[in-house]
Amino acid sequence: MRLLTHNMLKCHVKNCTDPDKQYPLRFKDVQIEQIEYEPNEEFLVRMLPRIDWSALVKTAKDLNIGIPGSMPEDPASDQDFLQKLHTIIMETHITEGSMVCDGCSHEYKITKGIANMLLAEHEI
Ligand SMILES: [Zn+2]
Repeated sequence: MRLLTHNMLKCHVKNCTDPDKQYPLRFKDVQIEQIEYEPNEEFLVRMLPRIDWSALVKTAKDLNIGIPGSMPEDPASDQDFLQKLHTIIMETHITEGSMVCDGCSHEYKITKGIANMLLAEHEI
């Protein structure tokens, strides 16, 4: 599971609605793998407005991944930044572990790189 995907996920358990706690989900006991992927600058630039930067910074720091604290003024024309961003959101994969919600403590398991976002019936 890419960090880009993680950046788009929030807890969806019923009654778990505190925006400060249901997002971002906190990684726990994760295995990380770097998998090389063809950079696509156009795609990255298109994703920029959709990325929650402070959530990404928080997550990267949790995982000891170096990341610029803020987006540069003109990120679309900053090659160095785009390369770093590519490495972080496209090439960094969480293969095993889980994501925990700070609001309701629900744990979303990650197995073989796939996050299980399914809920038990009482959580829907
Ligand atoms: Zn939750």
